[in-house]
Amino acid sequence: MSDEKQYTEVQPKHNDPIIHCGHLGASNHHFFKVSGEPIKFCRPDGTFGKAEWLVACNVCWEKAKGDLRNIRICGDGTWIGDEPAITKTEDTGRVYENKIDPLAN
Ligand SMILES: [Zn+2]
Repeated sequence: MSDEKQYTEVQPKHNDPIIHCGHLGASNHHFFKVSGEPIKFCRPDGTFGKAEWLVACNVCWEKAKGDLRNIRICGDGTWIGDEPAITKTEDTGRVYENKIDPLAN
């Protein structure tokens, strides 16, 4: 099947905490898995959280000009489900730290 999706080796797992740009309804997202220590963050209500995944929509990623530190984080959440979601692209075979990996679905 030529249209079968190719997924990356590294995928978020059920209950993995994620932080995101706030545009979860966008049609394309970029997923980043941090290596080593999780990202620590503080919510507007003063509570703290940790996440190993950062998700940015395509618009925010382009605005950030390829630098994760420029992505404005507007929310956090929990990944639901263990089905693979992140697809491979021509130039990225897997999810790397600081490596772009567009999600096409
Ligand atoms: Zn966004």
